[in-house]
Amino acid sequence: MTVEERIRGRKIGIVGMARSGVAAALLADKLGGRPFVSDSGSAAALSDQLHKLKNANIPFETDGHSNYLLECDYIIISPGIPLTSDIAQRIRKKGLPIFSEIEFASWVCRGQIVAITGSNGKTTTTTLIGEIFKAAGWKTFVCGNIGLPFAEVATEVPSDGVAVVEVSNYQLETIADFKPQVAMILNLTEDHLERHGSFEEYKLAKYRITENQFSTDYLLLNWDDANTVSTEIKTLAKQLFFSIEDTDNTASFVRGGWLYVRKDNREEQIIACDDILIPGPHNLQNAAAAATATSLLGVNAASISHVLRTFSGVEHRLERVDSVAGINFVNDSKATNVDSVCYALQSVNPPLYLIAGGREKGASYKPLIQYGKGKIKEIVVIGEAQEKLLQELGSEFHVRFADSLEEAVRHCFEKAYPGETVLLSPACASFDMFDNFEHRGRVFKTAIAELRNGKKNHKSTTI
Ligand code: ADP
Repeated sequence: MTVEERIRGRKIGIVGMARSGVAAALLADKLGGRPFVSDSGSAAALSDQLHKLKNANIPFETDGHSNYLLECDYIIISPGIPLTSDIAQRIRKKGLPIFSEIEFASWVCRGQIVAITGSNGKTTTTTLIGEIFKAAGWKTFVCGNIGLPFAEVATEVPSDGVAVVEVSNYQLETIADFKPQVAMILNLTEDHLERHGSFEEYKLAKYRITENQFSTDYLLLNWDDANTVSTEIKTLAKQLFFSIEDTDNTASFVRGGWLYVRKDNREEQIIACDDILIPGPHNLQNAAAAATATSLLGVNAASISHVLRTFSGVEHRLERVDSVAGINFVNDSKATNVDSVCYALQSVNPPLYLIAGGREKGASYKPLIQYGKGKIKEIVVIGEAQEKLLQELGSEFHVRFADSLEEAVRHCFEKAYPGETVLLSPACASFDMFDNFEHRGRVFKTAIAELRNGKKNHKSTTI
């Protein structure tokens, strides 16, 4: 079936009115489809989105999902709605195909697709890859889970352009034909067990990124992460690996403090690892992955190394916020799982005060012991995970409870000495106390700004 036949005149049900749902509806409408958008939220809460739909004359419903939705030809579902939800079950029972918005958008994208998934580092690596393509002069569209829906830009990507798409496992659950020219699994650690049930199921969802690739496509995996180098991955694509070890069978590697890319049996020096601006071993992995992917599509070493030298990272990921009275503050609010906190502990200079906690995601916090020992002076915990953090880490670290993030920041400031660091790296989701991780990061930064404006003098008298 042609793209035209898949969309023109078809009744397309869209479940979930978040930004990607609205983008899918507008795209369907533009291509002659008949979108209908349905959301369980109230009209008041969805007023911005409703405004856009009304402007385009797209029909919708709020406060629940009616049977009209079930009369559509197929459904595009928001990644926020689990397939176990009531509405997804009703749709399935009716036998309607369910697609994700990235699947839908990919039908109409004429350019190359580079798709990035993994447990950690997706946004950083997606941004980095986008910057490298831009530096090399490509018409580049950075989109997907990163914020800008793929459906919003898909028709703009020219045949000689590239869509760099960050893909979450939720989006991969409902792909059908999504076929990137380069697909990448950065790493796989226990995360989102609350939705997937088991690590096995979570991994299988991620492996789907390659299921439609051809032998002319590339699947890029992390040689240093056993979970991504799996025999369970079934693919026709050329499997290549990136690594930060000195290996002889990978498409990139590190030797003598330099990052190299290996192509057609030739080794190309990219950059001295110390010159990569984003810090830590995890960011070296991200850099290796980005260098490999872009080099595969023909970007030269000079463009890659220029970006690696100058790219300073993404907000809320090991972001250096300020130094107040000599105390450094680092915002790693996006560290919503244990693995990313382990990397933060390897990337930030000790001694440090760690602020952690929030909404539980099911994994054990005990790996923090190995990376935090001898570095962390105190862990200040907030939110629903307080008790579990105390239980699992209390025997190894001094753990203290705080009722709010602001209180945690003030406490750390009072206790820390100049040269020490206060690191927000929560290992938990934010939704128990904040709208999202960005909100949590902003509250952290505001609390620091208040210290700078008011409490700085107070601190200098207490040291
Ligand atoms: P994602 O989009 O997958 O959540 P981000 O780039 O937003 O990834 O980073 C999320 C968190 O994970 C941050 O705390 C960041 O410092 C950390 N991180 C980034 N890259 C990696 C990596 N390759 N491995 C582990 N942690 C990482």
